[in-house]
Amino acid sequence: MEIRQTVEIRVRGTVQGVGFRPTVWRLACDEGLVGEVLNDGQGVLIRTTGNSVSIAQFLTRLHNEAPPLSQIEDVKTQVLNLLDFEDFRIAESVSGENFTRVTPDAAICAACREEVLDPKERRFGYPFANCTHCGPRFSIVKEVPYDRVNTTMADFPMCASCTREYLQPADRRFHAQPIACATCGPSIWLERVDTNVASGYPRATAALDSAVELLKNGAVVAIRGLGGFHLACDATNAEAVQGLRQRKHRYGKPFALMARDLDTIRRYCNLTRAEAKLLQSPEAPIVLLSADGPEKLPAGIAPGLNTVGFMLPYTPLHLLITQQIDGPLVMTSGNISDEPQVTSLDTARAGLRGIADAMLMHDREIANRIDDSVVRIAAGRPSLIRRARGYAPSAVPLPAGFEGAPDLLAFGGELKATFCVLKHGAAILSQHQGDLEDVSTFEDYQKNLQLYSKIYNHRPRLLAADMHPEYLSAKLAKQRAADDNLPLVEVQHHHAHIASCMVENGEALNAPPVLGIALDGLGFGEDGTIWGGEFLLADYRGFRRLAAFKPVAMVGGVQAIREPWRNTYAHLAAGMGWAEFVEKFSALELSRYLIRKPLPTINRMLETGLNVPLASSCGRLFDAVAAALGLCADLALFEGQGAMELEAIAETWAEGGDSPYNFAITEQAGSGLLHLESLPMWQALLDDLGQQTPIARMAARFHYGLARAIRDMVARIRVTNAALNTVALSGGCFQNKLLLEELVRLLKADGLSCLFHAKVPSNDGGLALGQAAIAAARHIERSYPANLQGSSASNKVRSNQCVLESLAK
Ligand SMILES: [Zn+2]
Ligand SMILES: [Zn+2]
Repeated sequence: MEIRQTVEIRVRGTVQGVGFRPTVWRLACDEGLVGEVLNDGQGVLIRTTGNSVSIAQFLTRLHNEAPPLSQIEDVKTQVLNLLDFEDFRIAESVSGENFTRVTPDAAICAACREEVLDPKERRFGYPFANCTHCGPRFSIVKEVPYDRVNTTMADFPMCASCTREYLQPADRRFHAQPIACATCGPSIWLERVDTNVASGYPRATAALDSAVELLKNGAVVAIRGLGGFHLACDATNAEAVQGLRQRKHRYGKPFALMARDLDTIRRYCNLTRAEAKLLQSPEAPIVLLSADGPEKLPAGIAPGLNTVGFMLPYTPLHLLITQQIDGPLVMTSGNISDEPQVTSLDTARAGLRGIADAMLMHDREIANRIDDSVVRIAAGRPSLIRRARGYAPSAVPLPAGFEGAPDLLAFGGELKATFCVLKHGAAILSQHQGDLEDVSTFEDYQKNLQLYSKIYNHRPRLLAADMHPEYLSAKLAKQRAADDNLPLVEVQHHHAHIASCMVENGEALNAPPVLGIALDGLGFGEDGTIWGGEFLLADYRGFRRLAAFKPVAMVGGVQAIREPWRNTYAHLAAGMGWAEFVEKFSALELSRYLIRKPLPTINRMLETGLNVPLASSCGRLFDAVAAALGLCADLALFEGQGAMELEAIAETWAEGGDSPYNFAITEQAGSGLLHLESLPMWQALLDDLGQQTPIARMAARFHYGLARAIRDMVARIRVTNAALNTVALSGGCFQNKLLLEELVRLLKADGLSCLFHAKVPSNDGGLALGQAAIAAARHIERSYPANLQGSSASNKVRSNQCVLESLAK
């Protein structure tokens, strides 16, 4: 039986600025309902009158046909006294407590794409077409609420045609804040660096055509995009690629590519369905793909690697350029050495002059620099390596128990820095900012802290930061805590990694402890030494260190990161001892190679203990093994280069995991701390070297051996901790797909439940989220189990502090 009733529907989530109200309007009209829909401080509020069947139908369709960029987190309905409405209308917004979510930028949608490519449409060839389902969002926001006047589109008053579309609920551009067309919106022009001739609007086509012509002829063109400048060149032209590397002084790191469509990418990479879907998603990230297609790219694109990062054009501007180019383009960040991506016209003119032959400019300011995100499919799901455009600043939902979390701010780490705003029980993880030791990156990081504070109207009651005394983010947090008289929670690096993994996997606040395995380069340990291969019994509030990779000296501190051979030497010297190595393996090329190094100096450093901090680092073990196999032994151009090359070459070994290398488990006298000991692995590896074993086989034996050793350590820990049945994997080393997938397989085979990262990076980009969760948990429940209690000031050993200070630099 049909009953006429009035229902109030409250929708929470990402529902503003994404075309939600027009969708509600359209569905309500379809279902013959009357009523109203409006935005308020909590999301979207609908009041509607109609027969109960139609209302039920409306609610079902609201879920199924919600606009593509919206994310409904919660819908609550409540029956009201019967209200009469004349029709269904979109009512004025009601301001309230301001917690409007800012939506990430979204790639051009199918409808806009068609328009831009259709000569009959008025936006044909227009590089800034967008609608409620796509286009710039976060990159143009200066203030909230998200209205045109508070974005960099304020400089472009809407023309009459755009205004009509903006006001028409049935239009795809109803209330699309960045709405624009060739009459009223931003325009492009080309500046030639050599001649200083600028060709501009209304000859936008001429600017595009010239840029395309230049690219086809091997030139480097700087392109002002959505979140910053790119440097582009023809990726199939080895000379152009090499030229770009030389001009940019970027020799090691792989270049990202952009291609017009999936078919072009398939010439170089055999795409899986999941990869194709990810490339075409509104987030449109750079996807790391196996370079296993029929055609080969020049070696200069991704030196030493068997993967390549591809993305599809995500703005109309990129679409219009790539439409005219048959093959892929290099599309790398437009920056100078390690500085952040350039965003402003003047900085580009000054800074990119010596790199680009021409600059394709536009006049819409970039309010927030945002890099391209990088994702890889690993262990069956998309796994974020760099979380920026398309993903930030969307909220990461907090698990059960965190409802009472205080508003707080977590400052993150030092490299791949992000920060995290906790407000109303939601965690907003900032976009990737870069390495804070770069002065302009650190300035940008501070600017963004202010911006987020403004956008989210955020006044933290609590601050959180890394325990490292020399991280710039931690120093800033201390300063802020003193200035604003706020409590500061200092969080151990690897505990933060594990907590971030727990949050994104929805582990409840009061869930039993997990066995956290944090593998990375280095982080400040509670005992004042450097950690980086940790097995922690952890919950959100605290942890206990149960096992670690056996510490080995980092000879020369940071120099050990730059010169990987130092780690090889340190591992050999610490394991079998140098004398024994020389005696047994003098015939090896490795031995002749190391003898040429300044060993007497290094030995003196080891004897005196000067600048040789001990590190239980998994990252350094990878460096040591890579260098022993001759992979970037002398110099790493970026941290982790050796590990990436080692993984790449291990992947090529068809036999996979046959006869993995053995490791040993030992117990540290007195403390009971278990050590993962790599000496047996080294002995087998050196024998392999002596027998001219293929490098790929040794790399594979190492990867599979390490995974098995970690599994064995887990089993050993469970002998005395039988209740532990959940393992959380985090830290930058888990960007290694081979290691992650093999370890997950082994742990699952042992009946363990395995948490690992997907939406939040496993590297230091995820630290801020973990810090936020830990600070919130400690605040919510101040009394926590003594066995998991974190550090107390008294047990911190600061002997290595000077060394760590130098390491932070
Ligand atoms: Zn669109
Ligand atoms: Zn217009």
